[in-house]
Formats: sequence, structure tokens, C-alpha cells
Amino acid sequence: MDQKDDFLRTIGYGEAAIGHLKAHITPAYPRNYEIWYTYAAGYNQSLNKALNALLRNSEMISAEDTARIYEEFLAPHRFGDRVERIGGKLSGELREVVNAIDSARKDALAYSETLEGASGDLARSAKDELALQRIVETLVSETKDMATRNVDLEEKLRDSKRQIEELRVSLETIRNETLTDPLTGLANRRCLDQSLERCIIDAQSNNMPLSLLISDIDHFKKFNDVYGHQTGDQVLRLVATAVKQNVKGQDIAARFGGEEFCILLPRTDLPAALRVAEHVRQSVMGKELIKRSTGERLGRITISIGCAMLRPGDTSDLIIDRADQAMYLAKRQGRNRVCTELDVAQQEGSQVA
Ligand code: GH3
Ligand code: MG
Ligand code: MG
Repeated sequence: MDQKDDFLRTIGYGEAAIGHLKAHITPAYPRNYEIWYTYAAGYNQSLNKALNALLRNSEMISAEDTARIYEEFLAPHRFGDRVERIGGKLSGELREVVNAIDSARKDALAYSETLEGASGDLARSAKDELALQRIVETLVSETKDMATRNVDLEEKLRDSKRQIEELRVSLETIRNETLTDPLTGLANRRCLDQSLERCIIDAQSNNMPLSLLISDIDHFKKFNDVYGHQTGDQVLRLVATAVKQNVKGQDIAARFGGEEFCILLPRTDLPAALRVAEHVRQSVMGKELIKRSTGERLGRITISIGCAMLRPGDTSDLIIDRADQAMYLAKRQGRNRVCTELDVAQQEGSQVA
């Protein structure tokens, strides 16, 4: 993705955010700016709905309202805040477990002292029937108390186990989010890099094929210029859906960068990868774009795809580079098509000849 495109897209959202701050007479504190930037970008639909509801009542948005919007719709997504909150809960829970075990240990010690005392009493009062009965009653009552305390401890430990499991799941969710692209819900670049490394090792050690597809939307810059970036983002979601619909099992679909998507196909050779690529290309082309807000028909969008297959001694950079070269060949040959690394090799061969 080139930096200038990023600049143009985000500066648009930034300007819109400043416009909102001015229109609603809101101080431009970073948090308020973030609220209106998110509103302008349209990524967080619940935040937009909440703000629209407030705007229906008044042009002014109070400091309390902005604080509430931030707490409700942005703070929960703050990665650091969430990890910190979970860490705090986890350490509280562990402290309680340690306390419970500590008090159980004290109970057990007291109980064992009771038993020892009773054993001394028994030796002294072996012939006194009444005294014996009293000792037995004390023992029965102490034992009952001890059993109750054990049940309490068991319950406490069970409850802690459940809470710790919930916290583990929350941490897992956060971990997954760091590997997910928020706009499309596909794997992000970081996840793709990790998966590619893993798949290469797997393919090389099991002597299985592995293929990689890289797709790029055709003339997307123009599309953004004509219809705006927000509609452009809608198109990105649509292409992501087409990509998702055409992968299965161990395949991994990822957003590689701005408007480029990748599909990693384990145990798949080049001819099979080419078939998957064709399906994706046709399924994108088959969707008619309709602007959600106005119902306006925006025509169709196409993509170009490059395919490469893992070679002996290959690295992730090399296979990505070959898929990229194939994608650029597809662009040069007129776009809306799929090329493989074999086409690139053939082309280079014919140029040399
Ligand atoms: P080509 O057919 O050669 O690919 O032409 P192109 O216009 O698509 O060229 P290129 O692939 O270089 O353009 C990338 C464009 O994608 C630039 C930018 O406007 C757009 N883009 C990148 N990331 C995003 C994004 O997150 N949202 C939106 N709306 N547009 C993006
Ligand atoms: Mg591109
Ligand atoms: Mg493009």
C-alpha cells in the first residue's frame, strides 16, 4: 500500500473529524478527535448509531455524552486496557485461591490439634463413660465442621477455576483480534506471515505442495476517487466475502495490505490453486455493487490474481515475490485475470528469445 494513498484516505477522515468537532462545539482532545475520526471512517457502526441518536436531539454533545461514548464503544477495544483489566482480575482471583488454601491449611492444623488433644483425653479418661461420650461428641462436631469447610473450599476452588477459564478465553479473544483485520474480519498481515512460515515448514517436512494467491483490485484508486473512501471500504468488505466464500478447510484468507488479499493453500498444487483463483475472480466479478446509503448502482469490480507454488529451498519472501510478479503480469495483460509464475517464466523466456 503506498503511503500517499494512506495519507489521502486518512486525512479525509481527519478533516471530517475536525469538522464534526467544530460543528458540535466539542473540545479537540485526542479522545474526542478519536470519536469523530471513528465516526467519519464508519468502522464502528454501534458508535455511529449512538452518536446519530444523540445528534437527533441536539447539535451540542455534552462532555458526559462523549465520555460515555468513549467508555462504551472505544475503551473496550483498547488492547492495552483490556489486557490490563484481565490481568487485574486474574491476579485478584489467584489471591483469593491462595487465601482459601491458606485458611484451609490453618483449619486442617486446628483439626489435627483437636485430634491430638482428643487422643490425650482418651488415654486419661479410658474408664469414664461420660467423659468418653463427651470426647466422641466433640470429635463428631469438629469433624462435621471440617467437612463443611472442605465443601466450602471445594466450591470456592470450583468457582475460581470457572473464572480463570473465562479470563483465559478473554485473553484468547484478544490474541485473535491482534491477528484479525478489523475492516474485513479476515486474517491480517501479521497472521498471514506467521501462517506462511508454519505452512512452509509443514509442506517441506511432509513433502506436500503449498500454493499462494495474491489478488489486487483493478483500478481501485479511480473507484475511491469517484465514490469516496467509505464506499471503497464497503467494496473491500465485499471482496473479502468473495475470498472467504472460496476458501475452505486449512486454507487461510488474509488481507495482505490496502486492497490486496492473499490466500494460502496448503496441500494444493499450482493447477488446483489456479482453479481456486478463477473461482474467486469470477465471484468478485459476479457481484453488482450497490451503494448502501442511496441504493445507487455502482457497476462491478474486478480483481487480478497471481499464483505461485512453493519450491524446494524456498522462503516466504521468495514465494510472495513470485505470486506478486504473476499478479503484475495479470495487470499488464489487461487485468481481471489470473496468471501463474509459469506465465511469468514463459514471458521472460520469450523476451530473451
Ligand atoms: P491497478 O488496477 O493497477 O491495481 O490500479 P489501482 O488503482 O487499484 O492501483 P493500486 O493497486 O496501486 O491502488 C491502490 C488503491 O487502493 C489506492 C487507495 O486509494 C486504495 N486503498 C488502499 N487501501 C485502502 C483502504 O483501506 N480503503 C480504501 N477505501 N481504499 C484503499
Ligand atoms: Mg494495490
Ligand atoms: Mg489495485
